[in-house]
Amino acid sequence: MRALQLIADRTLELAEVLAPPTPGAGEVQIRIRAVALNHLDLWGYRGMAFAKRKLPLVVGAEASGEIAATGAGVTNFKAGDKVVMYGAITCGQCAACREGRDNLCENVGGIMGFHIDGFARELVNQPARLVIPVPAGVSLRDAACAPIAFGTVEHMLFDNAKLKPGETILVHAGGSGIGSVATKMAKAIGCTVITTVGDDAKAEKAKALGADHVINYKTERFEGVTRKLTAKKGVDVVFEHVGGEGFNASLLCLKRGGRLVTCGATAGPTATINLMQLFQQQYKILGSFGASMRNIRDSLSKIAAGMTPIIDSEFPLADFDKGLARIESRQVFGKVVVLF
Ligand SMILES: [Zn+2]
Repeated sequence: MRALQLIADRTLELAEVLAPPTPGAGEVQIRIRAVALNHLDLWGYRGMAFAKRKLPLVVGAEASGEIAATGAGVTNFKAGDKVVMYGAITCGQCAACREGRDNLCENVGGIMGFHIDGFARELVNQPARLVIPVPAGVSLRDAACAPIAFGTVEHMLFDNAKLKPGETILVHAGGSGIGSVATKMAKAIGCTVITTVGDDAKAEKAKALGADHVINYKTERFEGVTRKLTAKKGVDVVFEHVGGEGFNASLLCLKRGGRLVTCGATAGPTATINLMQLFQQQYKILGSFGASMRNIRDSLSKIAAGMTPIIDSEFPLADFDKGLARIESRQVFGKVVVLF
């Protein structure tokens, strides 16, 4: 069968590999139909000194497919069912896993496509407990965006930042995969959304998604505009995933007691923050990574109810790296999906 392997930093190869064996007890075999790309894939593609992994490595962390076969004891899936898969192998035994909070697993086996072989292959065996059914009416292309893009945002906004209807939120990089989802989810509960983009064409698209105010961060200082838009009060929540030197400016956008939730650092992993400001203004900084199983189920329900992902582009498996290039060059608006 075909599998797309990272064989060296920035080098992918479409290889013929052995198909997986018949699924074991508690496992299902999935025929992959779509892999959605995230910034995580770009980190892995560029190579990260701290990531423990062995090359060649099958890429792909976020995917959907159809059940091809089931192992002994699996009663909740049958061949042909449409599914998505959790983006990491977790232990299923620790307290966090037993509560469905797999993103806090104490014995995590690795992130798919990053530490261990991922989903960019025709067939994969997974533990059935890490597989989630796709509701009727949702395409496998759209479903592929649920486990990471939608799930991560759901976890950030509602479990961590506890975003409430009527609040004001600043969503950074509104054209990114997760930024576009965050705008949709916040608007869906009646929040006011301020978002940042890097060019005017994206500003139009962000407005079409429902953003109330769009700031071109290349031509305006987002913290100044945000304070002006909120009559100097600041926003309730900042949705952050950019990091770098903009991080402290994001804190300045918060109202007293406001919450900043972050899941990424695309502009750099270090930032200087003013501690006086942090405690005097009683800011809450919340780190967020991945999603619970419930977040993914809730995300699929939202997609089924009409909150479909914005698809930037679709590529065949052989052009996975062209999809990554769109994300790296920040041309992207929405999700890049690789279809099998
Ligand atoms: Zn666990």
